[in-house]
Amino acid sequence: MYRILEILRREQGFLSGEDVGKQLDISRAAVWKGIKKLREEGYEIEAVTNKGYRLILHDTMYNEKEISQGLLTKKIGRPIYFYKETDTTNGRLRDLALEGSPEGTIAVAEQMTAGRGRRGRPWEAPAGTGVWMSILLRPSILPSEASILTLLAGLAVCQALEEDTGMNPQIKWPNDILLNGKKLVGILTEMHCEMQETHFLIVGIGINVNTTEFPEGLRDVATSLYIESGRTFSRKNILQRVLLNFEKLYDELMKAHCSFKPFLSRYKEKCITIHQDVKVLGKETFYAHAQDITEDGELVVIRKDTGKREVVFSGEVSIRGGK
Ligand code: ADP
Repeated sequence: MYRILEILRREQGFLSGEDVGKQLDISRAAVWKGIKKLREEGYEIEAVTNKGYRLILHDTMYNEKEISQGLLTKKIGRPIYFYKETDTTNGRLRDLALEGSPEGTIAVAEQMTAGRGRRGRPWEAPAGTGVWMSILLRPSILPSEASILTLLAGLAVCQALEEDTGMNPQIKWPNDILLNGKKLVGILTEMHCEMQETHFLIVGIGINVNTTEFPEGLRDVATSLYIESGRTFSRKNILQRVLLNFEKLYDELMKAHCSFKPFLSRYKEKCITIHQDVKVLGKETFYAHAQDITEDGELVVIRKDTGKREVVFSGEVSIRGGK
């Protein structure tokens, strides 16, 4: 059936059932059956007497096949597991990782019914509105260094969105991407490890793309590309570009033996947290002024209460803006 799809995609215009059948060495009835199945999957295929079939291409098609079509990565996004509906893509990918799936495997969902952020906070991920996906990585990295991947993913998504939309999103250290001060993207990295050994890492990325409206409690804090620009975007294109940017940065990280140093200036350029007053929510909650980011990707803050300099690890804390 997908071979029929490929032929129609290549042709772009009309092609008779007979011609399609000849190319694949199947009967016209078999071609018709395949077309019916493709339609059931949501592909729009026109059928005109004496002309044949024509595939109507539009960007709303979002599935495993479409995402892999034109994907320029070597490893990241290979293979793709696509779910129409699932609880969380991080959860699905964790199962796949435990079954031995290779590095680069991704899980993508049209809709997540139990999406979550850090500390189990809920993440809204309704159908048709955003890119909800997770990437499986198996780097030789110490568990204590693994939060670098969150920073790297933030940078990759930021670059990808800039390239694809022309907008200028910014990173709120460590794991959120904001547009005009509101949350556009959430990133949740989870790892499976022992004391000194990381078995695998899962980087979950949620991007609000074509969301028109958020539920009551989120309206003031969340935004989407559509809300900020009045335009809709192809989730497939955005997803592909995120994967490509991520792969480039990940390769670079591996070559740099997992050092964050080569990324520091790029990250800082996009990071809005520096020079802001922040509330650090960790083992202890305190107010501080964010001063810098270290070569290891940690946040340097000056505490308001003691005036002392402190280094904050991304794995442990949430940062809230304001006093
Ligand atoms: P933080 O990084 O701010 O600590 P999390 O990464 O834990 O936050 O993300 C969960 C929070 O994100 C929720 O508590 C909610 O406020 C917000 N949120 C949930 N769904 C969305 C969404 N689709 N877009 C933007 N923000 C969301």
